[in-house]
Amino acid sequence: MSGRSTVTVHADRLVHPDAAVAPPIYQTAAFSAGDGEAFARGATEPRGKGFYTRFGNPNHAQVSAVVAELEGTEAAMVTASGMAALTTAVLALVSAGDHVIGQKSTYGGTASVLLNLLPRLGVATTLVDQRDPLAFERAVTPKTRLILLETPSNPLLHVTDLRAVADLARDRGITTLADNTFATPLNQRPAEFGVDVVWHSATKYLNGHTDVSAGALAGPAEILDRIWDTSLLTGATLGPVDAWLLLRGMRTLPLRVARHNANGLALAQALAEHPAVAAVHYPGLESHPQHKLATDQMTGFGGVLSVEFTGGFEAADAFLGLLHYSRRSASLGGVESLAVHPASMWRGMLSDEQITDAVPPGLVRLAAGTEDTADLVDDAVAAATALLTRRP
Ligand code: PLP
Repeated sequence: MSGRSTVTVHADRLVHPDAAVAPPIYQTAAFSAGDGEAFARGATEPRGKGFYTRFGNPNHAQVSAVVAELEGTEAAMVTASGMAALTTAVLALVSAGDHVIGQKSTYGGTASVLLNLLPRLGVATTLVDQRDPLAFERAVTPKTRLILLETPSNPLLHVTDLRAVADLARDRGITTLADNTFATPLNQRPAEFGVDVVWHSATKYLNGHTDVSAGALAGPAEILDRIWDTSLLTGATLGPVDAWLLLRGMRTLPLRVARHNANGLALAQALAEHPAVAAVHYPGLESHPQHKLATDQMTGFGGVLSVEFTGGFEAADAFLGLLHYSRRSASLGGVESLAVHPASMWRGMLSDEQITDAVPPGLVRLAAGTEDTADLVDDAVAAATALLTRRP
């Protein structure tokens, strides 16, 4: 199909055709079959759309068609959350005795799967510094079955060399699973670099309106069939209304991502110059140590940046309270700007020690929404400036 904006509006059109211009919501848990043969077929059709909603629903199939087309993969499926996508995929792809490699800088839930859940299930894990592709190679053992990637990473915006890791994994028969939540398929398509399966917290940019929890997986049909088999057992089914809302959100993804990219870059540039700021992490900045790699594999850098203040944790906390437009919230990727202190947010999923290893204590994550660029920049600069005159 043609351009990305056309894809988001039309890629689902023939999946479950109907005269209604906006697809109907199939708010049903089950579908009936005309005869025994059709019933038996429905029970085994991977990612089907007419048997039982846990097995697949027309609303799932429609949104999946758009995700697959955007990511440039053979197939896609949706789940009840990003974490449901990750845990279902991991449970499908590894067994006790296997070894999994992940990144040191990665979303807290993914870190907890690697550090806590998998070891409890008898799966060994190794976390590497993803800025060094050779670190992945050094971590490989004869039992390595899966490599979990995330680029840019949450919240440090470290970049992983997708092609280098995908190549070394393929040579060794290891599956790669990349979290593309921060970049979105508008800015980066991991499958083009050889990554096997791409996953998303669709709660974020794909939906874009902070009103749905959802996950998505995209990749070759053969691997997705195996993940779908496991999804029947994990039962992390996306509700039909949420699938419909996700598709509606995705219709405007290219428009929104263009604004998120512009706002993220403008905020990063403005804060990088500010005397209250010790460091800004954003791959779109020329000063980012991996800017060249980011430019090679991304066409835009997204709306998320992270900032360290010279005043440490106290200044970071004060900054969050001083922002007018960005509200203190755990999410990102919606039209509204949100900001958070990741070290506090992840305490439900990781131990204090695991958090200390993963994020600097004073780091603030800013998720630029789609508001006017000048308003967001003025707001953030005013908040940072107020830190300089604050009484200790
Ligand atoms: N991946 C990234 C990069 C995230 O930021 C998040 C949530 O914040 C997740 C995955 C998990 O997704 P969900 O909250 O939809 O389960």
